[in-house]
Amino acid sequence: MIDLSHLRGQRVAVMGLGKTGLSVAHALVQAGVEVCVWDDNEDKCEQARAAGLIVKDLRVAPLDNLNAILWSPGIPHTHPIPHPVAVRAGAAQISLISDIELLLSAHPETDVVAITGTNGKSTTTALVGHILSAFRPTEVGGNIGRPALDMPDLGSEGTYVLELSSYQIELTPSLSPTSVILLNITPDHLERHGGMEGYIAAKEQIFANPPIDSRKPTAVICIDTKPCADIAKRLKDNGTWTVILVSTKEILDEGVYVADGILYEVRSGESVSIADLRDLKALKGQHNHENAACAYAALRHVYGIEPDHIIREMISFGGLPHRQYLTRIVGGVAYINDSKATNAEAASKALACYHRIYWILGGLPKEGGLNGLEEFMPRIEKAYLIGQAAHEFAAWLEKRKVPFEHCETLDNAVRAAHLDAQAGLGKPGTSGAGVVLLSPACASWDQFQSFEHRGDVFMTLVGKLEEGV
Ligand code: ADP
Repeated sequence: MIDLSHLRGQRVAVMGLGKTGLSVAHALVQAGVEVCVWDDNEDKCEQARAAGLIVKDLRVAPLDNLNAILWSPGIPHTHPIPHPVAVRAGAAQISLISDIELLLSAHPETDVVAITGTNGKSTTTALVGHILSAFRPTEVGGNIGRPALDMPDLGSEGTYVLELSSYQIELTPSLSPTSVILLNITPDHLERHGGMEGYIAAKEQIFANPPIDSRKPTAVICIDTKPCADIAKRLKDNGTWTVILVSTKEILDEGVYVADGILYEVRSGESVSIADLRDLKALKGQHNHENAACAYAALRHVYGIEPDHIIREMISFGGLPHRQYLTRIVGGVAYINDSKATNAEAASKALACYHRIYWILGGLPKEGGLNGLEEFMPRIEKAYLIGQAAHEFAAWLEKRKVPFEHCETLDNAVRAAHLDAQAGLGKPGTSGAGVVLLSPACASWDQFQSFEHRGDVFMTLVGKLEEGV
């Protein structure tokens, strides 16, 4: 755990008592910080009291003696409507900060790779961490599900590889990474940023501060989405960052690109072929080639690791659960858990990899719904709808003549998809066994605690299916 004793004597409030909030509160108490905590959920306050923490209602308690409020990234502090505590903190000029800010205050000079983007953050963070740890002390944390302060202290020879959401970037004013990977920016979380412009601005803030030592920072940017191409141009013009361009859609005359599954690096104007990414079993699909190419570019340019060594470690990367994870094969039908696809863009990546799809989808819909997925509809045998999005999605599918069934729950959907997929085996005029794919294109919170919970339930249900129905 990160030592926060440099904050001894300060006063910090913790707003939001999820896994990270609680872990930070305990770390601060241990460090001799005066800590109070609050959550709008009374049960969470009760749990905190039981764990010996001081609970204060920050909606009414005086705030002006606080040094900072540790703010849970899940709670709106600007859009759509700022939480009342954020309004009071603004009036009292108290900063709202993340746990990453505390990590950086403890280790201002440690090497940091900061990874962001709309999709692919966790995969790329895990991949960079996996490869880099073969060469130097490396710890992976942040939005990937490991709170920043749960990582061990690293010396000057080590690297923190941090996955950062747009919310965390906004709440980390001292962020000054030695390198950044920016993967892509497509519409997501727009309600929290007041629209696309606000969302892009939040992501771009990752480049706001140069590192505090004399090193020139490196920005690895995949320019396949327009907002990222624009940011790359602005950074190049500005000159503070070394910018390494990456693409999976165009052949570049500098940087790193992927064409027909082959990874190329441009050296002195010459394209040098590095590896066939289609051999990487845990990184299937063009989207994963983007993740792999960005990881390669950072490891090569920032750390000077030899291409062969990077690829050797990439081959041994096992992938992350809930991302196109092959759960089971029953009678030749593959059952795939892609619960992490919480928006249409992410779901499109899985839909692009398969044919004859029995597609389980739905949950809490995002703005834009299923728009953008039209081209994949000929691959869908049938759709199985769950959660709040069901009626909106049914209307969308009906328009595109895709057969669907209202299933309400995941339990019903898995059963129905299983029966249809098994009955479809060997049907005249069909080829291949097909896949039952959970790729919901929605958030999970209407029926589950998290996308992990949704994926785990899917895998348990699939585990219980009987063969030969
Ligand atoms: P994040 O942490 O940004 O949500 P993940 O690595 O967890 O991203 O991947 C989530 C889902 O997003 C995956 O299941 C996949 O469908 C899709 N995805 C992964 N990488 C990319 C990418 N580079 N571009 C677009 N979609 C991606």
